Amino acid sequence: MTAYSYDRERILVTGGAGFLGSHLCKKLLERGHFVLCLDNYFTGQKRNIFDLMDDRHFELIRHDLVNPIFMEVDQIYNLACPASPIHYQYNPVKTTKTSVMGAIHMLGLAKRVKAKILQASTSEIYGDPAVHPQPESYWGNVNTIGIRACYDEGKRCAETLFFDYYRQNKVNIRVVRIFNTYGPNMHPNDGRVISNFIIQALKDEAITIFGDGSQTRSFCFVDDLIEGMVNMMDAPDDFTGPVNLGNPVEHKISELAEQVIRLTGSKSRLEFHPAPKDDPQRRQPDISLAREKLGWEPKIDLEKGLGRTIKYFRDLLSQK
Ligand code: NAD
Ligand code: UDP
Repeated sequence: MTAYSYDRERILVTGGAGFLGSHLCKKLLERGHFVLCLDNYFTGQKRNIFDLMDDRHFELIRHDLVNPIFMEVDQIYNLACPASPIHYQYNPVKTTKTSVMGAIHMLGLAKRVKAKILQASTSEIYGDPAVHPQPESYWGNVNTIGIRACYDEGKRCAETLFFDYYRQNKVNIRVVRIFNTYGPNMHPNDGRVISNFIIQALKDEAITIFGDGSQTRSFCFVDDLIEGMVNMMDAPDDFTGPVNLGNPVEHKISELAEQVIRLTGSKSRLEFHPAPKDDPQRRQPDISLAREKLGWEPKIDLEKGLGRTIKYFRDLLSQK
């Protein structure tokens, strides 16, 4: 039985007009749910959810999550928060407020209506990791006063709030730590490495490598990630996480640049820039827990995922 006497489970997706949120809304509609998509459009875009607007089981709410909101729902996916370094560093105080106040408001809502709630946490809570690859048991290495701290510490505090509401108020929580994810609907100006490299390559512009390009990331295609998130929401109630979700195949940033040039057939050259402050040097998820508890692992390799993402950006650029 649902909290509201409708025949469909009502699911709130905060940050639903963003990159991951838009894919999640689509997936939840396909699964037969009623989806409430909440966003303040800071980094989200209407074009990401345009195709969903005509669905009578889809509803949009323009709202800023630093303010409370009251509604009746059965599940909450809490994704609202700018995720790319240039976006979360644009207004760092607001970034921390969104993570912390947003978590408090959504946990309060979940407590009141007895909804299941999932937090989109991040590999950034591991900071510049001293343990490699990163298991969930690693407590991280974050510079609390650095320029990434507004995001990292905001997300760490949100995890703390989730576990305190779980212990103190028996809220039914789930926490996923998402590693670098990419795919269609990424914001073209978000400055993340995959969107930057693809757009630069498609325009035959210089590919901007920060540092010497030897730093690593592990890139997960969005369809895989969304499947992992939904599996986590569906998992037995005694599995709260945190659980890592990401693709365990690690790549150097310089290798990624070469691969994007090859796949786009671009004439672009590499251009080296100073590394940003506190840029993590290595990142690779240990996904043993997700394999064991969720039966989940990514299926789409980087070559295939990049192909689909390149097609998305090629179409987008041709519309302008
Ligand atoms: P995104 O920036 O595309 O989406 C975030 C959405 O939240 C946007 O639509 C934005 O407008 C909205 N938002 C921001 N502040 C808000 C506020 N105060 N009130 C209401 N809405 C607000 O980013 P994304 O990549 O889709 O990330 C979604 C979530 O997943 C974020 O919480 C992010 O921290 C987490 N995450 C993403 C990645 C990744 O690689 N994409 C990795 C780790 C964690
Ligand atoms: N990066 C780069 N060139 C760019 C954008 C990013 O070399 O044009 C590097 C960045 O310094 C980092 C990695 O790519 O080492 C991933 O950056 P991104 O902003 O995508 O994500 P995050 O640092 O949050 O993992």
